[in-house]
Amino acid sequence: MQLLFLGAPGAGKGTQCKMLGEKLALKHLSSGDLLREAVKQGTEAGIKAKSFMDKGNLVPDEVLIAMFEEVLSGASVASGSLGSSGTKPLAKTGFILDGFPRNPAQAKALDDLLEKLDTRLEKVINLKTSDELLEERITGRRVCPNKECNAVFHVKFQPSRRDGICDQCGTELNHRSDDKPEVVKQRLSVYREQTAPLIEYYDGKGLLVTVDGEGAPEEVFNKLLEVLKVACQK
Ligand code: ADP
Repeated sequence: MQLLFLGAPGAGKGTQCKMLGEKLALKHLSSGDLLREAVKQGTEAGIKAKSFMDKGNLVPDEVLIAMFEEVLSGASVASGSLGSSGTKPLAKTGFILDGFPRNPAQAKALDDLLEKLDTRLEKVINLKTSDELLEERITGRRVCPNKECNAVFHVKFQPSRRDGICDQCGTELNHRSDDKPEVVKQRLSVYREQTAPLIEYYDGKGLLVTVDGEGAPEEVFNKLLEVLKVACQK
């Protein structure tokens, strides 16, 4: 299945995509996780990306497009075992895109890439949340920096069992540098201006399904499964 998630920063895309990827055995491809790994590794793309990420701005399109072309075509492994599944490109075997595309130019580039790889998106899920919730969700977020794990916690809504330690792999949790209030405001404004128009773009293609992103992760996940079941039967 070829799926794409849309939603504001803090809407819970990462958490839901991770759960869905495990449930459906699909690769979860998070642009933010791929970029943070590139920054950590000090690759050329990572060095270029860092200053944009720290300010809450979008990293230049060509960096993201090249990154996803590489991962989806399975030409190389951008992060651990990502990139290929047997001999078929990942684009064919199925994936969950999270964070890419993030503006109309990237959406067009993705359409072209998928066409070249002889596949297409099956559904686009818009995870909808009220504005008030987003800032609180983001500023309290804690993430596991282990790239094989990338689990997400929240100090109030989903605390880890041991303070500051990942429940899944025992790594010390991080407070992302772009999860600070000043940067969060900029990320939300970039989302509204550049990413939100994609909701209409994919609705126009008949691919959009909307899921209410408010509530505990398990509640949202159950709603998501329900909506996907109905949408995929159509
Ligand atoms: P969130 O969705 O919570 O803002 P992400 O982890 O998806 O967080 O992204 C963090 C940062 O990485 C963004 O603020 C942006 O700088 C960069 N980024 C991620 N995806 C893209 C993209 N598709 N295009 C440009 N920049 C991106």
